[in-house]
Amino acid sequence: MFSKEKVEQFKTIPTPFYYYDLNVLESTLAEITKEAGTYGFDVHYALKANSNNEILELISKHGLGTDCVSGNEILKALDTGFTSDDIVFAGVGKTDEEINIGLEHDIFCFNCESLPEIEVINELAQQKGKVANIALRINPNVNANTHHYITTGLEENKFGINIWELEEVINALESFENLNLVGLHFHIGSQITDLTVFKSLCVRVNEIQEWFYDRNIIVEHVNVGGGLGVDYENPDENLIADFKAYFKVFNDFLELKPTQKVHFELGRAVVAQCGSLITKVIYVKKGVNTNFVIVDAGMTELLRPALYQALHKIEPLTFVSDNINRYDVVGPICESSDCFGKSLMLPELERNNIIAIRTTGAYGEVMANNYNLRRNAATYYEKEMIK
Ligand SMILES: *Cc1c(COP(=O)(O)O)cnc(C)c1O
Repeated sequence: MFSKEKVEQFKTIPTPFYYYDLNVLESTLAEITKEAGTYGFDVHYALKANSNNEILELISKHGLGTDCVSGNEILKALDTGFTSDDIVFAGVGKTDEEINIGLEHDIFCFNCESLPEIEVINELAQQKGKVANIALRINPNVNANTHHYITTGLEENKFGINIWELEEVINALESFENLNLVGLHFHIGSQITDLTVFKSLCVRVNEIQEWFYDRNIIVEHVNVGGGLGVDYENPDENLIADFKAYFKVFNDFLELKPTQKVHFELGRAVVAQCGSLITKVIYVKKGVNTNFVIVDAGMTELLRPALYQALHKIEPLTFVSDNINRYDVVGPICESSDCFGKSLMLPELERNNIIAIRTTGAYGEVMANNYNLRRNAATYYEKEMIK
């Protein structure tokens, strides 16, 4: 992934920094638009995975829509070339201010997660003399078989409307004159690598659609959310996720009416592999059963390991010798969870060696914080570096 020249460049830049290879992003986008296009599927990019302008501008150029989860994300999407008629807006806690942003910009659809929210959107739309498009985010009770912090489609999760509440919601909708029910929405979790999970989702969506058909409701849009996983262990072997197989599952198993259009909301699988966090070894410290490699990036730059026990490939880019040692790779932050990997077998490392922490394009920089009064890491893009 990293040429000798690039590693030489990296040596001249203060660490830690995020490095994005926009060529990888471009190839990923080409694959997504090709495979989704085969079936006429509409893909919305989940902005929360990475909202850097350079990344968003490249994604909007490829014609994707957006999936936003805050008012600021809607404004950011509009600023970076996305059009409001392709914005879906999800979230369990949309504030009045955020709903008004969506209404003012006539976004494509509010994905609604509760009856109280639906009531408020109706009221705010009425005040503006508008009719808002809404989809019901339904909790399908399908297990994503992923980390419990990124599982969203079970009854115990806070997201979506439960099946047994649907009757009440449908009845209530009849009296809301400023809402237009255009879709059903599902999102069951993230980093899903087992495609049979998506097959289960399709089967469940079909059952739920039957419930609506029985009540003479055929929505125009079926939004199956995001969640496609990426290969954190072997990024170079699977730099681009298997979008062909992913979209095929939905084409094969969703039973649709001819008028219905399918939407996706992909975040991680779009941007994860184009990013790396580049860091430097500050010290190598002897431990009891292992040696600690203390690097200058921490949970302030990349929270996923501390938050979800996520594993990112640790790839040394400069070397001392061919010896392989056992190391715990840790950050400098005053928390024991500030650890990127335990008991890793890595080439011998010493002070000032450079390491790439791979697959950090999604949910990396966006979750950065300033704990310990840390400054924000800089950001570099491939196109910028090769001048
Ligand atoms: C986060 C999120 C997504 C994107 O999930 P990925 O796993 O990054 O594809 C899609 N839809 C909703 C509603 C989300 O909250």
